[in-house]
Amino acid sequence: MVHITTGELFREAIRQETELGKQAKPYYDRGQLVPDHLTIAMLLERLSQSDCARGCMLDGFPRTLEQATALDEALTREGKGINRVLYIKVPEDELLSRLSGRWNCRQCGSVYHQRFQPPRQAGRCDQCGGELYQRDDDRPETVRKRLEVYFQQTAPLIDYYRERGKLVEIDGNKSVEEVAEELLAAVDVP
Ligand SMILES: [Zn+2]
Repeated sequence: MVHITTGELFREAIRQETELGKQAKPYYDRGQLVPDHLTIAMLLERLSQSDCARGCMLDGFPRTLEQATALDEALTREGKGINRVLYIKVPEDELLSRLSGRWNCRQCGSVYHQRFQPPRQAGRCDQCGGELYQRDDDRPETVRKRLEVYFQQTAPLIDYYRERGKLVEIDGNKSVEEVAEELLAAVDVP
């Protein structure tokens, strides 16, 4: 199944200079939120590509009830819809530790974690030797703020999708292998 993140979606549309990419660029460049209608239009465009014929997995979108309802409406208009929503449930203190330990490679984008996947050499990427840095988003002080925003804006989606019978709860406090297994079982659609 194709994995679609909004970040990649924006970067690809901007790189290819599509009509939507051109509209999204000023927001993206300034680090502002790309308006929902543009994001959804880009998603629909991406979904119409042949590699998504068997479906895809959205990652990082929707994040608000407003986005979820707008996405549902847009998908319905195209005869499409969301089959499953995977909710990976993790206690808050564990979330903090996981999120604030993440480091990215400046050159190739590889992701490391000081607890789960440390690089062989501190501060250097195993793949390309590039410099590792911590995104502003991943610093402990901003992680707390991100979690607050999550509980306010995104957590309501849990009930939204549960009420519609789409939610699959995954216990995210198990080992990587066990979580992976549960995730695979959840998307094993006949
Ligand atoms: Zn790298």
